[in-house]
Amino acid sequence: MDEVSQVVKEHTFGTWRVQRTWNPMNVEKAEGVYFYANGKKILDFSSQLVNVNLGYGNREVIRSIKEQLDRLQYISPAFATEVRARAAKALLEVMPKNLTKFFFSTSGTEANESAIKIARFYKFPAYKIVSRYRSYHGSTLGSLALTGDYRRWFAEPNVGPGVVKIPEPYCYRCPFGLKYPECNLACVNYVDYVIKNEGNVAAVIVEPITGTNGVVVPPKEYMPALRKITKENGVLLIADEVMTGWGRVGEWFAVNLWGVEPDILTTAKGASASYVPSGITAVSKEIGEFFEDRVFAHGHTFEAHPVSLAAIPAVVEEYKRMNLLAHVKAVGSYLGERLKELKEKHRSIGDVRGVGLFWAIEFVKDSRKTPFGTYEDKYAGRATEVDVLASKLLNEGLYVFNGPSWFVIAPPLIISKEEIDEGVEKLDKAISYLDEKFTG
Ligand code: PLP
Repeated sequence: MDEVSQVVKEHTFGTWRVQRTWNPMNVEKAEGVYFYANGKKILDFSSQLVNVNLGYGNREVIRSIKEQLDRLQYISPAFATEVRARAAKALLEVMPKNLTKFFFSTSGTEANESAIKIARFYKFPAYKIVSRYRSYHGSTLGSLALTGDYRRWFAEPNVGPGVVKIPEPYCYRCPFGLKYPECNLACVNYVDYVIKNEGNVAAVIVEPITGTNGVVVPPKEYMPALRKITKENGVLLIADEVMTGWGRVGEWFAVNLWGVEPDILTTAKGASASYVPSGITAVSKEIGEFFEDRVFAHGHTFEAHPVSLAAIPAVVEEYKRMNLLAHVKAVGSYLGERLKELKEKHRSIGDVRGVGLFWAIEFVKDSRKTPFGTYEDKYAGRATEVDVLASKLLNEGLYVFNGPSWFVIAPPLIISKEEIDEGVEKLDKAISYLDEKFTG
């Protein structure tokens, strides 16, 4: 380990992991869809944490940030700035049309914290938030209470009152043991039952397509039905588009896939291409107006930070200049086809699913769909065989972001077909490691 990696390991924390086995590579530089670490050229097949949507080194975004730094570095959120107006206008252009007011923060978890507070103010005295088990909404205590996966377990019992969990539309392992379409969408109909029987529900929050927890794409009826159910019950619908937003699925936001307008949309990651930290909570006109004569009891020192806002209009312009949504649709279906070819070849691949440039490969170790690892393994800090495979791939020049038994394949949106082929070939060679462990 070089000195950089050593100091980083000794004096800073590796997140969501046991520290002893953390051996961070020293990343020297990055360009396009590649980063360079420990002298190796590595193809980024997951946009880091599904966030470096424009890849590395986009000159226009960098220029916009630098210009803002030269002009105005910081000012209290109580003031108006030209960059704040430009960011708001850029968002009005790309957000679902009903969302017209924005709160700016610096991360996805803060965007969700704001959404919880706004929903509770707006729906007072209703306070409960319904969220799904197979979900991740952030690491701070409120967002972690919404989170369904094992990361919530570390923070209990100090979080959670007022959060009600529901199963997810995970057809590959249906929590209800049913089959689509004969199931008649039991998973979404159950939400109606929960809202009516819980009482005091203020909002339902979902990732329109579950991200870190395995890119779970719902059946086409799910989101429109959820919108209808929440409306009929007078409950807000919050779409967490921290991962699915910003062209990841070939639309500005995933809700557009089904023509659904949420009451609140939270986003971060791709909003600034991740060149600077940025989080956004977007609310409907009605919710915005609600606070006209009521206190908006929320804020941060770094709210509407001029430098982080400078990235947003530049990102929107870059998407338009490169016609990126159309590109994602085209190369996304190519990536999907190539991954499905892998499924035909490798017995350890149980499922391949996704849309746009947002895919999962789910691995199984037998024909009964036994996973190679579970949330319990993650909670205990145990590396799974899929973790081992991801480390092997990194050494072979391919970075993939993985869960206990799946890979999230979500390269920067600027990726070409040739670069997709390079990544798929590396996957093809490496997956035989898991095939050998398949027990039939
Ligand atoms: N929501 C979703 C859907 C996410 O995927 C994430 C992060 O991966 C978050 C919220 C939290 O975002 P952040 O890590 O910026 O706090």
